[in-house]
Amino acid sequence: KEKTLAMIKPDGLLGNYTERIKDVIVDYGFSILREITTQLDQDSASRFYAEHSSKRFFPSLIKYMTSGPVLVMVLEKENAIADWRALIGPTDAYKAKITNPNSIRAMCGQDSEKNCVHGSDSLLSAQSEISFFFEDVSSA
Ligand code: ATP
Repeated sequence: KEKTLAMIKPDGLLGNYTERIKDVIVDYGFSILREITTQLDQDSASRFYAEHSSKRFFPSLIKYMTSGPVLVMVLEKENAIADWRALIGPTDAYKAKITNPNSIRAMCGQDSEKNCVHGSDSLLSAQSEISFFFEDVSSA
């Protein structure tokens, strides 16, 4: 089975969406192998989103991601990476409400930044993101 990294971002936790999101996760057949609630600081948020460091929205993204705790989970099922991405919907939660009304971002996100959840976008990023938070979880 495949593993992916899922995260409920600060707006998701503050908005009390955790239980609803977990219900969707379980309904869709994912197992939650591990979970931690943690507060990202400037340094860890910047490392997590290093690929975006040159983007205009980077400073705002880091401010958002450090604005409160996040809940990080390792999800497992067949085709977990693509299925979780499909379930969360497009990056822009405003667009998600129109084009993917049943997606998680349509349920709890607001716009292209405050989109309440994260999911790894490839096998390589799933492996590196899982080891970023869970040193002891084998990503194989
Ligand atoms: P994630 O990596 O969090 O799952 P994603 O892969 O859908 O999201 P990316 O393009 O990797 O989207 O962007 C990472 C995060 O940066 C987004 O989830 C969002 O919070 C923020 N972001 C992306 N695009 C914008 C933008 N145009 N304006 C503001 N914030 C943005």
